[in-house]
Amino acid sequence: MILIVDDKAENIYSLKRLLESKNFVVDTAMSGEEALKKVLKTSYALIILDVQMLGMDGFEVAETLSGFSKSKNIPIIFLSAVNIDKKFITKGYASGGIDYVTKPVDPDILLLKVKTFYRLYEQTLILNETQKTLRSEIETRKQVQEELKKRVDHLHFTLESLPQLAFTADCKGNIDFINKKWLFYSNEATFPETHPEDGSITEAWKNSRINDTPLEMEVRIKRLDSTNFKFHLLRIVPIQENGSVVKWVGTFTDIDDQKQIEKKKDEFLSITSHELKTPLTSIKAYIQLIERNLDHKTEKPIHNYIGRVQAQLFKLSNLISDLLDISKIENGKLKLNKKPFNIHRLIDSVIDIIIHTHDNLKIKILTRGEVYDKNIIADEIRIEQVLINYLTNAIKYAPDSETIIVSTEIKNNTLLVSVTDFGIGICDDDQKSIFDKFYRVEESSLRFQGLGIGLYICADIIRQHEGTIGVHSKYGKGSTFFFTLPLSN
Ligand code: ADP
Repeated sequence: MILIVDDKAENIYSLKRLLESKNFVVDTAMSGEEALKKVLKTSYALIILDVQMLGMDGFEVAETLSGFSKSKNIPIIFLSAVNIDKKFITKGYASGGIDYVTKPVDPDILLLKVKTFYRLYEQTLILNETQKTLRSEIETRKQVQEELKKRVDHLHFTLESLPQLAFTADCKGNIDFINKKWLFYSNEATFPETHPEDGSITEAWKNSRINDTPLEMEVRIKRLDSTNFKFHLLRIVPIQENGSVVKWVGTFTDIDDQKQIEKKKDEFLSITSHELKTPLTSIKAYIQLIERNLDHKTEKPIHNYIGRVQAQLFKLSNLISDLLDISKIENGKLKLNKKPFNIHRLIDSVIDIIIHTHDNLKIKILTRGEVYDKNIIADEIRIEQVLINYLTNAIKYAPDSETIIVSTEIKNNTLLVSVTDFGIGICDDDQKSIFDKFYRVEESSLRFQGLGIGLYICADIIRQHEGTIGVHSKYGKGSTFFFTLPLSN
């Protein structure tokens, strides 16, 4: 809106008509005092101000307006009939006007000026608005930065109080913080020296950064003042914000004592299982001798007892072998002896062993699926061990069911073997850990005997064959344990 200020009604009238003819919205004031009151209440885009007025003259009005924050930016055009003298014009500009028009007014020129100033005022308003938005954005960013700094300080404080070596790094993997403990192991923000036999931390972390996944690895590092490497568990986890990694936080935890105890336990297992194997082999041999010398017709009950002893010996022998395997896996000594063999012949033979070594077995073991008539190349004894484990578990954990199904399938140059039972099943949570060392489902662990190492060994055997292993199961309905083996051309 434009405000015309003049103490002569005829002047106001003609100017108002002129501006309204060009669709400007116009307001009027008959004195400087009235103009000031109006400016306080309404927002004007332009003021056309007569210089000679009774009471406050135009210059005084302009000076007062420039003192108010609300009106200081409103453009003012002075209209004057008398003061065409240069010093008055200068005074007009000095008091806050942006143009000085002398009477008689040329309507076209005045209109052009009004339009230009009007547009300028609108643009100034837009600029002011933009500036305000920018200012508030800067303010918000400042606050976010301060908040972030507080969080980082808090994180550093926490890492400083940890008993572990700790560090943080930016999203590109540049270490930007290390705690004091770190300095016992490295002089600067680089990883401590690792044992020559351990993999490179930098390489392993590079790989985990590609997929933004946490890194967990066991490495041996040593203090700067020592020559002894000690086992540490290194964990580096990504911190995500809005779906992308902004930081990495890492710790080295000393697990050397734990490792030494584990080593001693493995040595103990290895020695004990070796020692147990020798008398067991003798017992087996003598039992076989006794069985051969029995008269099967007259000594039938004894024959039955011997059958049971043999079944228990089979279990004992498997248990000892498993214990031995555990220590072999820990030492990386579980080696494969790959040769060609027929998988179906092996499956049939395993079913036979299972039937003969399980007294009074009521469950029927069926075979299904595609026949692969070529030989596969794998370690037959180890694959037999996996199948025996799957079938023994299927019988153990499905005591009241009638059948177990062994299936084979060939897909994408891979052989899939699965064992399905209709027993107690495994809930989703337990399925994730079922192949871990010593893991047993707590709920059923009291009802069924076991050590929780069979599946762990199976997983290692299949992993060494570059195959996959897994389970599909429904709690209360049954389970399908499977493994795959790559078929060579
Ligand atoms: P173990 O049977 O000696 O405990 P395993 O390593 O063979 O050890 O199995 C680990 C655990 O997996 C078992 O304790 C059992 O809880 C679960 N499990 C294995 N096979 C089955 C199955 N067929 N049905 C239900 N649970 C099973």
